[in-house]
Amino acid sequence: LSFNSARFLISASRLDECPPDFGAEVAFAGRSNAGKSSALNAITANGKLARTSKTPGRTRLINFFSLNRENCRMVDLPGYGYAKVSRDMKDDWQKHLGHYLNDRRCLRGLVLVMDIRHPLTDFDQMMVEWCEHNNLPLMILATKADKLKYGQAKTAMLGIAKNLKSYSCVEHLIMFSATSKRGVDECREALIEWLEG
Ligand code: GDP
Repeated sequence: LSFNSARFLISASRLDECPPDFGAEVAFAGRSNAGKSSALNAITANGKLARTSKTPGRTRLINFFSLNRENCRMVDLPGYGYAKVSRDMKDDWQKHLGHYLNDRRCLRGLVLVMDIRHPLTDFDQMMVEWCEHNNLPLMILATKADKLKYGQAKTAMLGIAKNLKSYSCVEHLIMFSATSKRGVDECREALIEWLEG
């Protein structure tokens, strides 16, 4: 499985627009601006894969990317909490995401991208609880680690680990940076384990 092979497949705003529910998928979630698009671009070594622009219209869609193996996909979930979206749009987000997360049988795991300087927001906590409740493996990417000194980043990681120690869904907690590429290899290995396992 090669992540460099990732190609945009389709955008879906409703469950019935998603590709057939076969094979294996991993989904990426995160608060808007956490660094999810940059993380996807780093993992796939494709600077243009997930656009880093913050057009609310586009980021509300669920974007599917195919990999070089039949029915293996990466999924970019809409960023949560875009500052300018209305309450209705937030409700919409929850409805569509809820449908995807609850009904998608080929979903093998969730990658939660959080800014290492602002970890475990209410949104992150909600996603962790959801994974725990649904027995879905969770990988946490604590990204933008390059913004901190190494010692500070280490301390932040220990704090996150401590907060999550009672959650058995957390399989991987990775110090990450799309800028320095720290954690990219470790993340790829974990994704391969999920997708090929
Ligand atoms: P998204 O809304 O979660 O998709 O976030 P983006 O990937 O668009 O990133 C939001 C902002 O953070 C952009 O200005 C990125 O350049 C910046 N950013 C993302 N990842 C990193 C990182 O690892 N290091 C640094 N220094 N900046 C980052």
